[in-house]
Order: sequence, then C-alpha cells, then structure tokens
Amino acid sequence: ALEQAAALPLPTADEVANRWDIHPNPNPASPEHREDVFNRLSFGVDFTDHMAHAVYETGKGWHSKTIEPYGPLTLDPASAVLHYGQEIFEGLKAYRHDDGSIWTFRPSYNAHRLNASAHRLAIPELPVEDFLASIVGLVRTDAEWVPSAPGSSLYLRPFTIATEPFLGVRSARRFDYLCIASPSGPYFVNGFQPISIWVSPDYHRAGPGGTGAAKCGGNYASSLVPKLEAHDEGFDEVCFLDAVNNENIDELGGMNVFVVYEDGSVSTPALTGNILEGGTRGAILRLLRDRAVTVREETIRLEDLISDIESGRVAEVFACGTAAVVTPIGRIAGPGFDVRVDGTTVTKSIYDQVTAIQLGHEPDPYHWTYKLSA
Ligand code: PMP
Repeated sequence: ALEQAAALPLPTADEVANRWDIHPNPNPASPEHREDVFNRLSFGVDFTDHMAHAVYETGKGWHSKTIEPYGPLTLDPASAVLHYGQEIFEGLKAYRHDDGSIWTFRPSYNAHRLNASAHRLAIPELPVEDFLASIVGLVRTDAEWVPSAPGSSLYLRPFTIATEPFLGVRSARRFDYLCIASPSGPYFVNGFQPISIWVSPDYHRAGPGGTGAAKCGGNYASSLVPKLEAHDEGFDEVCFLDAVNNENIDELGGMNVFVVYEDGSVSTPALTGNILEGGTRGAILRLLRDRAVTVREETIRLEDLISDIESGRVAEVFACGTAAVVTPIGRIAGPGFDVRVDGTTVTKSIYDQVTAIQLGHEPDPYHWTYKLSA
C-alpha cells in the first residue's frame, strides 16, 4: 500500500515552495563555521540555520506553517510526548548533484510512511503537500548547508510530537510537526566495509499488534539495550527475530535485511506488520525484479539461514536503509552460532545502482528522484 501511495505524482518544488512562511534567521552561522562543519562531517551532530515548524490543534487543523530559525523548543513539562512517547519521525536525505542542483529520493514514500505511522500512534496526518512544502522550504532556505563532497548529504529529520500539556492517557489535542536538517558525511569512511550482526536472543523490537511497522521513537528506545548487548559482544548492529516464534529474521535496529542465494535469487523478510517497510527495501525489490532476478518476500528462518550459509547456498547477506543505502553483512552470530559470509557482488552492484540514481549519474526511469532546487 505504501509503494502504491508513493507512486502517485507530486506537485513540483516550485509549486509548493512558498506555501510555508519564511522567517529568516537573523543570526545565521558564518561561512567559516559552515566550512568547519563540512571539513569534519559526521552524522546528526551539526544542524542548519532553520527548521520547518507547524502546529496542529483539534478543531483548527494544521496551522502556523513556517520555516523559522533553528533553536530550542519551549515545551510545557506536562507535554504528552514527554510522558507517553506519542511521537513519530522520518528520515531522508538531500543530495547535491554535480551541476549544483539539490535533489531528494522518494519524498512521497516518506510522506506516506509518516502518515501510516501517524495512524498507528493516533497522531493527525500531515497532508503530503505540506510535508513536501516543509522540505522544499527548509532545503531552499538552507541550500548552502547541502554538502557536495562524495558520499555526503543533508540528512532531513521530519517528526511530530504531542505537545498538549495533559497527563491523562489519551491522544493529545495539540501536536507540533518539525523538520530539522543535519549535514552528514559518507556512511562508509573506510570503503564498502561488511558489518557484523548479533542476533538478540532475549529482546524483540515488535510483536503482533504492536508498533513495529510504525516509525515511532518508542521502537528505538526499546532497541537500545539489545544494541548495547550487541556492542558488548563486539558486533556492529543488532538483528531482531520475530516475537511469536523467536526464529525468523525480522530486521536490524534501523535497516531491512536481504539474502542473495547462489542460484541468483534473492529473499527478504515479508512485511508481517512488525517490520518497518523501508523505502530503500522497496526500491531494491523493484531494481532486482527489473533485472529479472527471482525475488521472494518470505519467512526467513534463522536456522535455515545459518545452514544455507554453512552449505554455501547463501552467497551474500546485506542490510539497507536511508543512512547506508546498502551495507554488506559479513558475520552473523548469537548464542551458540557464529557464521561468516563473504560475497558482495550483488550487494555492491545494487549499492552502485541506487547511489547512481540518487546522484543523477544514471537515468531515473522510476521517478524516484525529486528536484528540490536548481
Ligand atoms: N527498519 C528500521 C527499523 C528503520 O529504522 C529503517 C530506517 N528508516 C529502515 C528499516 C529502513 O528504512 P528506509 O529504507 O526507508 O530508510
């Protein structure tokens, strides 16, 4: 359903550019400071001069849509989000192409996924045009903050929080939507490096009827202990199994998983309602199908994955998401097992194809790229 909604045509950036009021920051960062930030790009540490901000009130709908100076929020300590976690978010990137123009990837997907998450968390939907206008307005206002070094981008973080000051447990009557932007460096600083994953034996990120398919803060709060455990065991990321049988691969803390078989076919866990449906996942499925690869969305039993890796039937395992695009998984372990996979051929070719489309180095027959600014 998300894929279908995301395929609907969007208004152009020029059409939505002036929908949100712009209140320029009277004290923007100096060009020297920006240069400094660009010379030590990491992830999620530095922020631009502005943010998009709108308010929702029951009876009034979304209003006060502005691009305003970046800065701390004033929140009543009774704000519902601080107590019951009524919050949803998204993540996407703006890329600078070689000709200086600025583009993003599948914004319609993120707009619709934000609304799917909104539905699960009893948060009002934000019209797709407003989501788009917030991003176009913010990126155009802070265009100088979009880095151009290879692999760098401006990470965009739209989110909605419940800000009604009320301690009763019910959906709030006031929400704030914001979008902040953070210049970020390449994910692979040392080249295309395989990661190691630790399969959490005790914790699940989601269960039936829960919020696993939504992008809400609570899912990430509950992933921190298993993630710490993975780090303590010496692994890069945690891999979650399904909560019903505790035997099927669900996903990583922030990425979906794919398995490439020796016969050329590819599998990824089916969308059970407990997995976050990734935009990168959807794009990769499409690219593989258009390469005439046999693709299965199915149950992947951990036990089968391990024995198929040991027998050589599995050639590659990779993870995907907005941050890394695609990253090879070189080692999978948990209590009582530890297996290695070393293939990266399909993984690398998918990475190259997705990034080439994102950066405008290859034609985009899918209309996934969206021009934010000339
Ligand atoms: N799963 C989880 C739990 C995530 O947080 C993310 C990142 N949004 C993904 C998968 C990948 O989604 P996307 O490709 O849309 O970034």
